[in-house]
Amino acid sequence: MNDAPSQATTIDSAEVKHWHTETDVLIVGGGGAGISAAIDAADAGAKVIVLEAASEAGGSTALAGGLIYMGGGTPTQKACGFDDDIEEMYQYLLQASGPNADIEKVRLYCDRTLEHYDWLTRQGIVFKPEYYPEKHTNTPNEAALMITGNEDAWPDNTHAKPAPRGHKPQIKGDHGGIPLMKNLLRSARAKGVDIICDARALNVIKDGEMVVGVAARIDMQVRYFKARGGVVLTSGGFIMNREMVADYAPRLARGNYPNGNPNDTGDGIRMGLDAGGVGVNMDEGFICTPFYPPKQFVESIIVDETGNRFINEDVYHGRLGSAILDRPEGRYYLIIDSRHFEILSRPPMGGYPVAGTGESIEELEQELNLPQGALINTLTAYNQCAKNAKDPTHHKSPKYLTPLDQPPYAAFDLTVGNGAIFATMTFGGLDTLPTGEVITAEKQCVPGLYAAGRNSAGLPRCAEGYASGMSIGDATFFGRLAGLSAAQRHLD
Ligand SMILES: Cc1cc2nc3c(=O)[nH]c(=O)nc-3n(C[C@H](O)[C@H](O)[C@H](O)COP(=O)(O)OP(=O)(O)OC[C@H]3O[C@@H](n4cnc5c(N)ncnc54)[C@H](O)[C@@H]3O)c2cc1C
Repeated sequence: MNDAPSQATTIDSAEVKHWHTETDVLIVGGGGAGISAAIDAADAGAKVIVLEAASEAGGSTALAGGLIYMGGGTPTQKACGFDDDIEEMYQYLLQASGPNADIEKVRLYCDRTLEHYDWLTRQGIVFKPEYYPEKHTNTPNEAALMITGNEDAWPDNTHAKPAPRGHKPQIKGDHGGIPLMKNLLRSARAKGVDIICDARALNVIKDGEMVVGVAARIDMQVRYFKARGGVVLTSGGFIMNREMVADYAPRLARGNYPNGNPNDTGDGIRMGLDAGGVGVNMDEGFICTPFYPPKQFVESIIVDETGNRFINEDVYHGRLGSAILDRPEGRYYLIIDSRHFEILSRPPMGGYPVAGTGESIEELEQELNLPQGALINTLTAYNQCAKNAKDPTHHKSPKYLTPLDQPPYAAFDLTVGNGAIFATMTFGGLDTLPTGEVITAEKQCVPGLYAAGRNSAGLPRCAEGYASGMSIGDATFFGRLAGLSAAQRHLD
């Protein structure tokens, strides 16, 4: 076969005239999940090839902040003086994974969190034992540890004891994905893993029901790779594929900032579906409007077009983004008083334009065209909450309940379409067992096929509950299990 095979089907191995090469484990995609799979497959004694579409491996994982969700008393947590407990972490993550949580995966992930921490450090990853205490999207310095979700915000703080569990590989600023992937790639190469770049996997090859290889385009030619143990699909999510997003996840299409690398086009998901797998949780994803930093924005109030608050403003930015994209036709304003005006000199991270200013709250209310008296009532009630250090309606932590009583006032515009950033990425993917085995709608394994990372539906399953670190934690941990399963299938 010389022509490029159809993108919509699997290939029958009987049609393959010439195998380009054979290996034990063949991995599609060299990001966090794929390289973790490669390391553990190689450690088990398998010969491993990784096909990577880009000119260098790394994927979205290398672009990421690099936060990894781990707890239960990691050495970093302990060095920073935090007690944590695996049960508390489990309760929190179960809640964070939402109504579609895969309980088995959450359980296993928490039970092995300390082992995964050790594994990462064995690959050369360093976590500087320093805690960053402020609300931020990542640690702006080299500190490893911070709270990265809704752990200390209501109602999550009533379900589990809060603890900081976001671990960033050591680097200054928001680039933890770089040292993470640099170390994983170095480790994989040292173990003899062959990473072939500029190699785009196109189709899965089957022998009857069994997956036995992959066709890939390299140097404008289609080449056939045979896998004796299994094929592991780890080619990332599909946020860059507009058609798939429109079909599967229309809520994410309301965002204006697809968060990922250009190859987040869902190739592996499509290949897995063709091979008999089933997609789950396909409508869900991450939705973020980064309303902090600056941390002072957490002390603001956020109102909709009725002039009322609708959320505790100390939530993780994903929960606010999710609430807004649930009702994108609304108008949303973040309100500060003169105490916070230093913020006006710097553009906020979320890209919010100033919607109005007022010498008094009445003037601001008019400028924002809010119902008469609504904003005045909201602010009066909020200032009373601040005075009492208690927010009985929305349960914002007293830590952030600062009165807004120093005019003049200003409002930033968080309304969809007015300049605010709404970053999105997908959480849906192939249904898999914790071992990485891809399963059909009838819960039967597709023999020889494995998936992990955003090619699968893993821990992150819900925009409202998401915490930073769940994606890379999931990709690296379940990537390892998928690589090991494929290796063992061959070696057993
Ligand atoms: C800016 C940014 C910041 C983020 N910050 C965090 C964070 O701090 N913590 C966190 O947990 N998550 C974060 N995320 C999300 C997280 O990075 C991803 O969800 C996760 O890394 C996905 O891992 P993966 O291995 O599934 O995919 P990737 O790391 O994207 O790897 C997939 C690889 O497959 C390749 N590929 C695609 N198609 C093909 C094909 N047909 N053939 C061969 N190769 C192919 C791609 O080029 C890519 O290299 C962030 C994401 C972004 C974009």
